[in-house]
Amino acid sequence: MNIVKTVDQVRAQVKAWRAEGLSVGLVPTMGYLHEGHGSLISKAVEQNDRVVVSVFVNPTQFGPNEDLEAYPRDMNRDSALCEKLGASLIFNPEPSEMYRPGFCTHVNMDVLTSTLCGASRPVHFGGVCTVCSKLFNIVKPDRAYFGQKDAQQLAIIRRMVEDLNMDLEIVACPIVREEDGLAKSSRNTYLNEDERKAALVLSKAIFLGQDMVKDGATSAAEVKKAMTDLINSEPLARIDYVEIVDGLTMQPVEEIGAPTLAAIAVYIGKTRLIDNFIV
Ligand code: AMP
Repeated sequence: MNIVKTVDQVRAQVKAWRAEGLSVGLVPTMGYLHEGHGSLISKAVEQNDRVVVSVFVNPTQFGPNEDLEAYPRDMNRDSALCEKLGASLIFNPEPSEMYRPGFCTHVNMDVLTSTLCGASRPVHFGGVCTVCSKLFNIVKPDRAYFGQKDAQQLAIIRRMVEDLNMDLEIVACPIVREEDGLAKSSRNTYLNEDERKAALVLSKAIFLGQDMVKDGATSAAEVKKAMTDLINSEPLARIDYVEIVDGLTMQPVEEIGAPTLAAIAVYIGKTRLIDNFIV
């Protein structure tokens, strides 16, 4: 498995595969890979002849006071996992390769980006849409793989592909969790021992909401209140948002139907974690 740093190298490799009639899957990541990313890579390996994993901590999706510099990186571990799972190529560009001097074209989206993480992180989804558009143009994959863990991102990418007539299929993969329920995340490494225990309140709130809906609850306010109260019972937790929204438009709903997304973002100490469930 090769690791390449330039757009030209990716293009040359994909062109050679295409000449052989091979299909290509893309898994966009920011690296520091765990089993959550691994599930996307495995699915891509299953469904495509060749798989490109991009490892790029994209500066344009981080706000000024966010964790761009601190974001964990470990290319040796990432490449070992990609190799083990059967990926064919890692694209690991420098920011200067992705954003050349004079760069000034951005992909932005309304509506879906106005709520949840988009409300707390105003520049985030513009950066995500721009970098994913670039990755789709560079790799030209048949399919690209995204995790349900970032449910709003997934909805936004689907919308962008539809709106801009991008010629690829978006494949969604379920949330992978630790044994005790915490959703796997590269940011979990920021947590100290007490915070790691406290972080369980996110998945507990998600499972509580899910059970209420399974048992027939349809009032978004009622489910939201129960989830909020549970999170507030954990002293180390500070809620960024607890929201119940339409699964396609990301706008708040009063009645829970299908598709509905219940999504939370919670600070545990200084670490902001997210989780969700889909009805
Ligand atoms: P990131 O490196 O955090 O940008 O994530 C890259 C991709 O992996 C995104 O599509 C995420 O939704 C997905 N992902 C991250 N964590 C998980 C998880 N625990 N389960 C499933 N997918 C995940």
